[in-house]
Amino acid sequence: MTDFKPRTKAVHGGTRRSGYGEVSEAIFLTQGFVYDSAEAAEARFVQAGDDEFIYARYGNPTVAMFEDRIAGLEGAEDAFATASGMAAVSGALMAMLRAGDHVVAARALFGSCLYVLENVLRRYGVEVDFVDGTDLSQWRAAVRPGTAAVFFESVSNPTLEVIDIAGVAEIAHAVGARVVVDNVFATPVFSRALAQGADVVIYSATKHIDGQGRALGGVILGTRDFIRGTVEPYMKHTGGAMSPFNAWIMLKGLETMALRVHAQADTALRLAQALEGRAGLRRVIYPGLASHAQHALSAAQMDKGGTVLAVELEGGQPAAFRFLNALRIGLISNNLGDAKTIVTHPATTTHQRLPDDQKVALGIAPGLVRISVGLEDPDDLAEDMAQALAAAAHKE
Ligand SMILES: *Cc1c(COP(=O)(O)O)cnc(C)c1O
Repeated sequence: MTDFKPRTKAVHGGTRRSGYGEVSEAIFLTQGFVYDSAEAAEARFVQAGDDEFIYARYGNPTVAMFEDRIAGLEGAEDAFATASGMAAVSGALMAMLRAGDHVVAARALFGSCLYVLENVLRRYGVEVDFVDGTDLSQWRAAVRPGTAAVFFESVSNPTLEVIDIAGVAEIAHAVGARVVVDNVFATPVFSRALAQGADVVIYSATKHIDGQGRALGGVILGTRDFIRGTVEPYMKHTGGAMSPFNAWIMLKGLETMALRVHAQADTALRLAQALEGRAGLRRVIYPGLASHAQHALSAAQMDKGGTVLAVELEGGQPAAFRFLNALRIGLISNNLGDAKTIVTHPATTTHQRLPDDQKVALGIAPGLVRISVGLEDPDDLAEDMAQALAAAAHKE
């Protein structure tokens, strides 16, 4: 499949057909695998071949199809599929780090990623320093010879800061640190993080890969040596494997991902342009807007601005709540990357746990609303946002 373009790989990559010659990928809902003889069992435990499986926590044909398909798309040597995005983040970090290691991470992170870095890793003796991820001089000052890894979200949640993958990678590689990128917001469709210098790329497949809000999943991508030598032994013994059923959902999700994500990003740009400058809004944040602080970097690093935008309402939390409550299409929830438009008030939900000073530092204002743009008609969405904005301006 290597000579085909991404959309072809997304439909055919990794396919393994059973003896029945099925067209659609089979779901191998089996925990175990039967051996022809005791000798064959012994041989497989010594060294399992490429298409030989032992136990679903170690690997499974449907899961392997998903791993090979996403690895091919991403241009990675290999991939390990996990039960959720957080199983991928925590698994990749726990597998590669040991007590005494030093890690530098961007401060603007998904809440659970922050927990893993601040609480879990520190508890096991890993030293973690946080920096403003958009400021390369802070990365330069924070790394030191022997720093084991740097970690960041290439586009941060929820304020959509864009981090310079190549810039951070140059600084990290100069001291021998591994570059680990949580690439969810950039999506596998718009990003080429590995080519830009990332060593390990992580996705929550729950988001755009499923794309229809059904199942949890995650994936760790990197070199074969890292995935099979470092990640697999840790994951297969600690239990964060992806279910074969979820792998099938993700496989089928990959087939339509490019079409969905392009349509969602086009609508997101259109909504961002329509909302920018409107009365009642303090700011509209979208990497595809010329007004975005890292617009040039975003345009150089990603094909499009992504499927998520954020708006900050004047009038703080009351106005933000009136806006959310007045929407007729956007659903109030906390996920993203769904076919359905989802709106979130980060300050009171996903980022509620953060102390106020950290919310201020990260730009998570009381009036901030995150909008994950779905596949609805763009005209309907634009009209709905406009009427909700008008409603938000009217205090009861
Ligand atoms: C959702 C998300 C995760 C966690 O993924 P789950 O599948 O919910 O475990 C990690 N990082 C980012 C940036 C996310 O958006």
